[in-house]
Amino acid sequence: MNLKNYINGAFKNPINNNWIDNYDPSDGTVYSQIPNSSKEDVESAYKAAKAAFPTWSKTTLEERSRLLIKISELIEANLDRLAVAESKDNGKPIGLAKTVDIPRSASNFRFFGNAITQFASESHESVGMQAINYTLRQPIGVVGCISPWNLPLYLFTWKIAPAIAAGNCVVAKPSEVTPMTAYLLGEICNEAGLPKGVLNIVHGLGTTTGQAIIEHEDIKAISFTGGTATGAHIAGVAAPLFKKLSLELGGKNPNIIFADCDYETMLDNTVRSSFANQGQICLCGSRIFVEASIYERFKKDFVTRVKALKVGHPSEPATNIGALVSKSHLEKVKDYINIAQEENGTILCGGNSVTVKGYEHGYYLEPTVIEVPTDDCRVNQEEIFGPVVTLMPFKTETDVLHMANKVKYGLSATLWTNDLKRTMKMSHALQAGIVWVNTWMLRDLRTPFGGVKASGVGREGGFEALRFFTEAKNVCIKY
Ligand code: NAD
Repeated sequence: MNLKNYINGAFKNPINNNWIDNYDPSDGTVYSQIPNSSKEDVESAYKAAKAAFPTWSKTTLEERSRLLIKISELIEANLDRLAVAESKDNGKPIGLAKTVDIPRSASNFRFFGNAITQFASESHESVGMQAINYTLRQPIGVVGCISPWNLPLYLFTWKIAPAIAAGNCVVAKPSEVTPMTAYLLGEICNEAGLPKGVLNIVHGLGTTTGQAIIEHEDIKAISFTGGTATGAHIAGVAAPLFKKLSLELGGKNPNIIFADCDYETMLDNTVRSSFANQGQICLCGSRIFVEASIYERFKKDFVTRVKALKVGHPSEPATNIGALVSKSHLEKVKDYINIAQEENGTILCGGNSVTVKGYEHGYYLEPTVIEVPTDDCRVNQEEIFGPVVTLMPFKTETDVLHMANKVKYGLSATLWTNDLKRTMKMSHALQAGIVWVNTWMLRDLRTPFGGVKASGVGREGGFEALRFFTEAKNVCIKY
């Protein structure tokens, strides 16, 4: 099957007829091809977006809202089909795609369809100067949205929905590793009646298609989610062109467990926050710090629970851990397991590839827990982004806070404790954009989402996203 670009409401082959193989990670076979779109394809997507902008930017909020909610309903109506496609493309368990990825993609459109009807700007009376100021929030024009492979449709729509809700037209690129549901989204947008050119989807490699988007002089804002190195590169290209930038990047999130927590709830959630989606969620708690007094108990219970996780084919309902997204990613994660051993880490469980019967060429890896002797090792400092967590004890609040913050990243942190003062003190001091206390991945789409330090610049979510996708213009009237 050949996927096509979605430009001006139509499905098109790449102009230069250049294609890339798309792999099924569960068995290592090539099951489709996608365009490796060139500058010319991006230009054609840009022109369609530019032509659609004058009408779309003046379309009433009520009508934009209706269309976004219609798209949301069609995603829900196609839940099974989209979940099967997501699971096959990414290797994630089908249950996860059905309960998290696809429902959340529908929520993204519904949420921003509603949010845009509530988005308001400010006015300021300049007392004593007989003047009034009001601020317009105007759409930027044509914007670029670039997303990664780990939560494909979920993160793709998290950008597209606010961008179009705010009145922009979009040139979007999904990850070349997981293009399938983005392709299907084009069909859904047509069925919903989204006007041609409002959303354009170009497929291809980051270095060709992505690069053409970020270099395009008239694409005035880039919303990017992906790795920190790519984010740095994009910032370097976009800054001299004065583009607005939102960068959601990598993480190395601490999961801090105190002895006074609700132990069983913490244990259940820690298994999930370590290995959900094969550990390939930017919010996974990959560094587990446990208060010394419960360290041995936790270690034993956690390892028992992790050993019971079933690695298997993503389409099997009983599978807890599916396939990693690609062969190269599997190799990268395995390299880190070797590095851990060289750095005197102890593999408490996992560490090996898994051969799943009938799918011998798939990219499967055991969930892996590594006890580390020090926080200063590479496996505790660098993002692995796979089913690998590290474990170490701590003695005091001050010690664990120091270790939690001593990484270049600052995306999220999880804290397990019932002590109110400690909760407030630590939440204040943790260097992260998101702190979860006694929970993990509880998402309210109105809240600001993003990271500090090397985890990114800017915030998504709620009105923050609508502010990013608009320019504020102040009008001052003297009377
Ligand atoms: P990546 O940076 O390799 O790719 C992300 C996207 O950028 C892809 O679509 C890719 O094609 C594109 N790209 C690559 N080079 C480009 C270039 N020169 N110009 C324009 N676009 C380019 O990341 P990935 O491997 O797909 O995703 C994994 C990373 O994403 C991890 O580091 C993870 O932590 C991060 N992530 C962050 C968040 C967050 O919200 N902070 C969420 C999910 C994933």
